[in-house]
Order: sequence, then structure tokens, then C-alpha cells
Amino acid sequence: MTDFWQEELTEQEGYFLQPFVTNLERSVFALRNLPEVVKGALFSRYSRSDKSLRRILLDEFIKAPEASFADIVGKIASNNTDQLVAIQQAEAFYNRVLIGYGDDSVAELGGAHIACEGISNIAAKALEDSRLGISPLEKSTRYVPFNRKINGHYRYYREPSIMASSHAERYEATLDDLFDTYTTLIEPLSNWVQTRIPKDINTSERAYSNAIRAKTLDLLRGLLPMATLTNVGLFGNGRAFEYLLVKLAASPHKEVRVLGTSIQQELEQTIPSFVKRAKTERGAQYAHYLSTSCERTKLLTQKLLGQKSSLQEDLLLEEISYSASTATVQLVEYDQDAEVKVVASILYPHSDLTFEQIEAYVIGLSTTERVEILSTYVGDRDSRFHRPGRAFEATYYTFDLLADLGAYRDLHRHRVMTQERQHYTVNHGYAVPRELEASNLAEFYRKALDRAAETTALIGKDLTDAAQYVVPFAYRIRWRMKLNLREAYHLIELRSQRQGHPSYRQIAQEMYRQIKAVHPALVAYMHFVDLNDYDLERLAAEQRIDAISSRAKN
Ligand SMILES: Cc1cc2nc3c(=O)[nH]c(=O)nc-3n(C[C@H](O)[C@H](O)[C@H](O)COP(=O)(O)OP(=O)(O)OC[C@H]3O[C@@H](n4cnc5c(N)ncnc54)[C@H](O)[C@@H]3O)c2cc1C
Repeated sequence: MTDFWQEELTEQEGYFLQPFVTNLERSVFALRNLPEVVKGALFSRYSRSDKSLRRILLDEFIKAPEASFADIVGKIASNNTDQLVAIQQAEAFYNRVLIGYGDDSVAELGGAHIACEGISNIAAKALEDSRLGISPLEKSTRYVPFNRKINGHYRYYREPSIMASSHAERYEATLDDLFDTYTTLIEPLSNWVQTRIPKDINTSERAYSNAIRAKTLDLLRGLLPMATLTNVGLFGNGRAFEYLLVKLAASPHKEVRVLGTSIQQELEQTIPSFVKRAKTERGAQYAHYLSTSCERTKLLTQKLLGQKSSLQEDLLLEEISYSASTATVQLVEYDQDAEVKVVASILYPHSDLTFEQIEAYVIGLSTTERVEILSTYVGDRDSRFHRPGRAFEATYYTFDLLADLGAYRDLHRHRVMTQERQHYTVNHGYAVPRELEASNLAEFYRKALDRAAETTALIGKDLTDAAQYVVPFAYRIRWRMKLNLREAYHLIELRSQRQGHPSYRQIAQEMYRQIKAVHPALVAYMHFVDLNDYDLERLAAEQRIDAISSRAKN
């Protein structure tokens, strides 16, 4: 690219700037070695100034005595306890800049990585319920066995209100039993899978044993209770963290509220200016508003619908095998005129007519004409990454889902949609993988799960919210998912892939079938949905890793 503009810098200015920008000459450059709050303040000034970013950094930060820039950046670079002092020192000055020039979105200009370790799955799900601005990563139940003990104890959350109650002993006995069963079944199940699917000569030992291990842990994850401790890493911007902190403060679970306070404490050391409102009276009021309206709505719902529980019908399904469909997927809402909406949205950006005029035109088109527009727009999709464009966001689908918690945990991670769950419960029964039946190990699995249901019910009589920690991932949960067609392409193609877990693969496949039944023309380009069933899901992915590493060696 030829630069048409270049900031004139003296040699000395260049010397000062150079550590903080990736180049001094070009019109595209990145910032580096700057504290988050400085980057945020710098960008917020950018929006109100005719100066270049390098010039603002020099004049208003590096050279401005009130900014104490050298001192602050020096302390931060020194990588010692001075860092905290430096950030606090930066606060007063940068807050003035942020408040003076910024709006709420300024807090999106700085971010933080935060690790939350040893938290329950209830807390992990609360963190991952974020959509815009937060990117979570969680320890996998497929690649990591969850049976390691610390000081002789399995790693699950000992919920304080339960531990202080008469249920403490039973709680620990039930959860120990779940983890014992999980641990005991790993070896026989892994042996059974190996007998069932022996290694062929073209598969490496590494690929095969990884695939077997993944399969075994996938099959057993249903035994893990929501109390299972895990690790979640979050990267997010300040604004998203602020909202997350408010939501955590509104949680009915004490663990989640305490976790919010801990996260706040750590963010105060890295991006304090961006998250401080969560801790103010305003933040407290917001959290109160969220928790109060949620509680009131819950009471009203119980008053209105309390007698109309679907419990009876669902309990009949208490044990179902993966060979049958374990999930209920019901498309409950879709647009009758979806095709018109999508086709009109395709034409819209290339025309100067109003949307209404284009819709009227599309209504008059024949099916062949609409198909020509759709197929031209989607073009040749060579991979699932070639996603159709925004016109596919013109129509939405609402699904009512009932599936095992394991599948919910996975699908919940999709952010470009609305998802809302009901509470974690044992009321809808659990799923037994067909492999456990075939290997004659299902009896142990069932026994531990049945006991967990009894304990959940018993604790639930006294401590409704806390009892949810006992619920194992095999039990089913009901949730609602509303997504547009573009996201449906992404989710269905990604989640039906061979290497996915069978329980969410079934859901993705069923979502595809149901959308196809009402809008065949709109899913005609979903070429990468995989409707097959596999024995060793992870094997092909492991074989690809082998092929890549042997190519790299050659
Ligand atoms: C086989 C498999 C194994 C997995 N293993 C793990 C695991 O071990 N641990 C774990 O934590 N997760 C795991 N996941 C979940 C995965 O990390 C994603 O969270 C999940 O697949 C959601 O995908 P997504 O972000 O593409 O979808 P969505 O959140 O639905 O987003 C749709 C698309 O929008 C865009 N988008 C959305 N949000 C952002 C954003 N913040 N920034 C930029 N672009 C965005 C992206 O293009 C994205 O593909 C696994 C998923 C699969 C399929």
C-alpha cells in the first residue's frame, strides 16, 4: 500500500514512540506495551481529535506532565508490585480522559484475560452465558479425565449451605459414588471400545489411543455432576466484564456471587476504570433489579403454571438409550414468508428500491426465479467456512429442546442467538449411551444416576437452588434456542461434524431435518451437514493430525 500521509516526527519523538507502536512510518500500525486503560483512553481521544494516534500519544500522554506516562509505563514494564501502584496512579488522569471524551463503548477498548480455576459447572455456565464481548474456553470433558483426587478428595464443589445442613453426608456420598463409578468404568469401557473397534494397520497408535480415550470419556461424562470443578479462561472487553459482574452478583448461587467479587478484585488490577461501575451503588441496584425481577417472575410462573407440570409425561422417559433419539427437538416457530424475506434481503443492497418494494417484487417471482437468486448469492461453497451472507439473517427459527445436560453445555456455547434454559433438574430423566448397554456396564451407570436423582430430590425439598449441584450431565434439561438461518448454517454444519459428541450431533441433524421440512429451498446449500452415525467419532480428526505432522516433518 502506498502511504498518502505520514506523521512528521522528530528523531526524539520517534525514539519515545517506538516502544509503543509497531512502526513509525506506515498508516497502519498496532499499539504495544501499553496498559489497557491507556489504550482505552487513547482511542477515546482519537474519536474527538483531528490528530493522528501517534501524535495524540505523544502530545497528550507521553509529553503531558499530568499523565505521568513514563512513570506509569516504566512501572508496568518493570513487572513487579509497582504495577498495581502504576495502574492506580494512572486512574485519576485516565478517568478524566475517559469520562470527558468517552461514552459507554470506551470500556470496550481495553480487555483482560482472566482465569477462573476450581469453579463448579454451575459457575462455569454462568460465566459462559455471556454473548457479546466475552470469549470463554473451558477444560474439556473429552480430553481430560475428571477423576483426579486432591488430598484424597474428588474435585467437586462442596456447596456451603448443603455442607452446613443435615444433607452434607448424603451429598458427599452421592457425589463420591458418581465419581467412583466414572473412575471404575474408564478401563473396562475403554477395553470394550477397543474390542469393538480394533485398530487398523493404517492408523497410528497415537491417533487410535487418543480416539479411544475421547470416546470413553464422552460416554462417561453423563456421570459428572454440576458440582464438578473445572477451569474456565475468559478473554473479554471491559464493558462486557462489567455486565458480567452485575449478572454474577444477581445469581441465586452464592458460589457465583463470590466468584463475581473475585473476578472484580482481579480486574481492578488490570482494567479498573472499565469495571468499577459494577461495584458502585449503580451496579448494586442493577444486580438487585435483575435478581428481583427474576425472582418475581419465577413466583408468578409457579402461581400460573404450577399445576401444569410436564413432569408426569417426562418421567415415563426416565431411561432412554442413545440408540433411540435421546433428545426432543421441536421447531416451534418459523416465518411463513421466510423465503420472500431472505430473497428480498439478497437483492436489497444491490438496488435503490425500498425493502417493501423489493418484497412486493419477490412475492411475484416464480420458484425457479427465487432459486436462481438464492444459488447465485450462496455461490460455490467449498467448505463450511464459506458461510452465506447477512441476507440469511432475515429469518429466525425457535426450537424447544429437551436433551442431556452434556449436550446443553456444548450447544450453549453458541453466542449469536438467544438461548434460555430451565433449571437443572432430574425431572426429565437421563440418557444411557447404547455402548454402555452393549458393554454390560449400564447397570453401574444407572445405579449412580438413580441415587443422584434421589439425593437431588431430597436436598431440593430444603435447598432448591443448591440441589442443582447434584444433577449429573446425563439428566435432561429443557431450553429454548432462537437463531437466524445464517447461524443455523454455522451451528448445524459445525455440530453435525463427525468428531462431535453424538448427543449434540443428533440435535444438529434433527434441527436440519425440521428446517428442511418447512424451508427446503433455504437449506439446499447446507452441503456440510453430516447425517451419518459413527463408532469412533474422533478417529478421522486424529488421523488428520497424523497426516499434518508427517507433512511437516517431510
Ligand atoms: C469439536 C469441538 C470441540 C470443542 N472443544 C472445546 C473445548 O475443549 N473447550 C471449550 O471451551 N470449547 C470447546 N468447543 C466450543 C468452541 O470453542 C466454541 O465455543 C463453540 O463451538 C461455539 O462456536 P462459535 O464461536 O464458532 O459459535 P458462535 O458463538 O455461535 O458464533 C458464530 C460465529 O460468530 C463469530 N463470533 C461469535 N462471537 C465472536 C467473538 N466474540 N469474536 C469473534 N467472532 C465471534 C465467529 O465467526 C463464530 O464462528 C468445542 C467445539 C467443537 C465443535
